[in-house]
Amino acid sequence: MTSPSHASDRGGGDGDSVENQSPELRKDPVTNRWVIFSPARAKRPTDFKSKSPQNPNPKPSSCPFCIGREQECAPELFRVPDHDPNWKLRVIENLYPALSRNLETQSTQPETGTSRTIVGFGFHDVVIESPVHSIQLSDIDPVGIGDILIAYKKRINQIAQHDSINYIQVFKNQGASAGASMSHSHSQMMALPVVPPTVSSRLDGTKDYFEETGKCCLCEAKSKHFVIDESSHFVSVAPFAATYPFEIWIIPKDHSSHFHHLDDVKAVDLGGLLKLMLQKIAKQLNDPPYNYMIHTSPLKVTESQLPYTHWFLQIVPQLSGVGGFEIGTGCYINPVFPEDVAKVMREVSLT
Ligand SMILES: [Zn+2]
Ligand SMILES: [Zn+2]
Repeated sequence: MTSPSHASDRGGGDGDSVENQSPELRKDPVTNRWVIFSPARAKRPTDFKSKSPQNPNPKPSSCPFCIGREQECAPELFRVPDHDPNWKLRVIENLYPALSRNLETQSTQPETGTSRTIVGFGFHDVVIESPVHSIQLSDIDPVGIGDILIAYKKRINQIAQHDSINYIQVFKNQGASAGASMSHSHSQMMALPVVPPTVSSRLDGTKDYFEETGKCCLCEAKSKHFVIDESSHFVSVAPFAATYPFEIWIIPKDHSSHFHHLDDVKAVDLGGLLKLMLQKIAKQLNDPPYNYMIHTSPLKVTESQLPYTHWFLQIVPQLSGVGGFEIGTGCYINPVFPEDVAKVMREVSLT
């Protein structure tokens, strides 16, 4: 992998003129796929703005996620604080789950023949992040965001008791074009009986890197990627081979395979850095819809996989669509170099 210092030696790299920048292909062991950086297709890094900013989030006439309407929701799993009618957050079942939590007894069936079918057992839960409709995640203080992260952890620990679950994906769709069907701030968790392809591909890539260098590639984040900000326990970076424009990763500084080993102190610390990144994205990019995903390790990683599995959180502002080239090849075209993204995002002033 080319080091950032070498990568930034490319021609015309003053961050303001894109005319002399040549396209470049990059591959990161973490994503394990090629990205084409093609800045000539785009405007200056500072000109990226969302064309479809989020609406001011008017309260609809009926929102079941608002406090006082709990009986209109699917069953509650737990709330914070416990049993408190003045809750700060609630974790509930998804009313329209993609997988069924009632099929566990059938889920031990082996895959049969060439069709590779298994029963659709799994969990699909929703974390309602605030009792108040107008509050967005980035409005919540670091302690409150830490509470949400600890709620993810608690639910992961509950689901992990089910032996046929192999991977748990935590994600947030913020804004209609990022896939959110409810405007009330929430995130989701999907627990799957299989290890999804991005995770197996990441394990392959980070394993190869470990075998070549003896190191975990995410422990080396500060030298391999372009640092935006850091807190006591986390660093936020524009990744060297970012798939999407203005994509940001928040990575624990200490080696850790699983998100659900996060402790309370680190949760508040991560809450602060996540809030800062979301505020900077909103300010710099005109309040775009966004997704974040927590990329953790499969529940049943082996002892030998632990040294090269390292969780992180990926934030993707929705600035560009996916077209035929990306669907056809699995390669992505990114119109902005991450070194320019890091420079722009470091300098965003929130005052
Ligand atoms: Zn609401
Ligand atoms: Zn590591």
